[in-house]
Amino acid sequence: MHLASRPQGAPTLENFAIVEVDVPDPGPGQVLVHNRYLSVDPYMRGRMDDRPSYVPPFQVGQVMDGGAVGEVLASGDPRVAAGEVVLHDKGWREFAVLDAGAVRAVDPEAAPTISAYLGALGMPGLTAYVGLLDIGAMRPGEVVFVSAAAGAVGGMAGQIAKLRGASRVIGSAGSAAKVEHLTELGFDAAFNYRDAPVPEQLKRAAPDGIDVYFDNVGGDHLAAALAGMRLRGRVAMCGAIAVYNDGRQAPGPANLPLVIGKRLTLRGFLVVDHAERLPDFRAEMAQWLRAGRIRIDETVVDGIDHTPEAFLGMLRGDNTGKMVVRL
Ligand code: NDP
Repeated sequence: MHLASRPQGAPTLENFAIVEVDVPDPGPGQVLVHNRYLSVDPYMRGRMDDRPSYVPPFQVGQVMDGGAVGEVLASGDPRVAAGEVVLHDKGWREFAVLDAGAVRAVDPEAAPTISAYLGALGMPGLTAYVGLLDIGAMRPGEVVFVSAAAGAVGGMAGQIAKLRGASRVIGSAGSAAKVEHLTELGFDAAFNYRDAPVPEQLKRAAPDGIDVYFDNVGGDHLAAALAGMRLRGRVAMCGAIAVYNDGRQAPGPANLPLVIGKRLTLRGFLVVDHAERLPDFRAEMAQWLRAGRIRIDETVVDGIDHTPEAFLGMLRGDNTGKMVVRL
C-alpha cells in the first residue's frame, strides 16, 4: 500500500494506492515473511505529513511502513527458520523481504492470537505500562483518569491501573457502547465525551480529584484533567489525537498556570525510549494473562485492500481495543 498523496486535514481513501510488485527471493542474511496481521496506529497520521518529527515522513509514491506479524516463508539466515512467527516493521504489504536482524521471533502459544503482539503484548501495551507506572508514577490507592480509554493503549492503561492497586479508574470514550465496554473492563466510572462538556462529566466521575491523568487526547480533555488534578498530580502525555488532523498549532490549555499552584508534573514520553522495560512488562503481562486478569480486545478488518479503511476508521473511533488488519 503506497502513500498516493498527502492529506489536507483528515486523510481520505484517495491518499492511498494499492500497487502490485514482484516479491524478490530473500538473499543471504535475509528472510521472506508472509504478513498475517498489519497494525494501523495513530502515529502514522503524522508520518503522512512532510514535516520534521521523531519519525521520518512516508514518501509519496512509496510503500508505507508499520508493525506487522507474519510467518517466515524462506530464510537465508541461520538465525531465523522458515515457519517461525515474527514481528517486524514492514507492514502495509502482504509479503516483506527483510534483513534477518530486523525481525523478532514471537511465541504464538503465549498469546490468544498472534495479532496481540501488535497490541496488548506489543508496542501499545508497553506504552500503557511505561506511561502509567514510570511516567505517571502511579502508586496504589491513587485515582487515575484515562482518555481514549476504549482504544489499544487506553484499555490496557486502565486495566493495569486497577491491577496495580488504583483506588478509582475513570475512562472517557466516544460512544455509549464504549462506555459500557469500559465498565466491563473494570473501570470504576466512564463517560462519553460527546454527551456533555468534559470538565462537567469528569468532575462527576472524579468528585475527589485525580492523581494521574494518562493523556491520549490532548485539547479539552487535558484542560479538564488539569482542573481536576490533586496537588502533586502527574500527567503522562502520551498522545494528542484530538489535534492530529489540525494543520494549525492548537493552543495550549487556557488553565495551564494551574500546574504551578498544584505542583503538577506534565511529562511527555515515547515508548521507543523504554525498551529496557520490556522484560518487566512481558513478565507481568504473562502472569495477568495466565490468571485471566487482563482482557485483550481487538477490532479486526480483513484484507490488504481495506487497510486504509481500517486506518481511517481507527482515527475516527470505529475500533474497540487494538485495530488490526488480517490478511
Ligand atoms: P486507539 O486504539 O486509542 O485509537 C484511537 C482512538 O482515538 C479512537 O478509537 C477514538 O476513540 C479516539 N479519538 C479519535 N479522535 C478523537 C478525539 N477528537 N477526541 C477524543 N478521542 C478521539 O489508538 P492507540 O491506542 O494506538 O493510541 C492512543 C494514543 O496513544 C494516541 O494519541 C497515540 O498517538 C498515542 N500513542 C503514543 C505512544 C507514545 O510512545 N507516546 C505510543 C502509542 C500510541 P473514541 O471513539 O473514544 O473517540
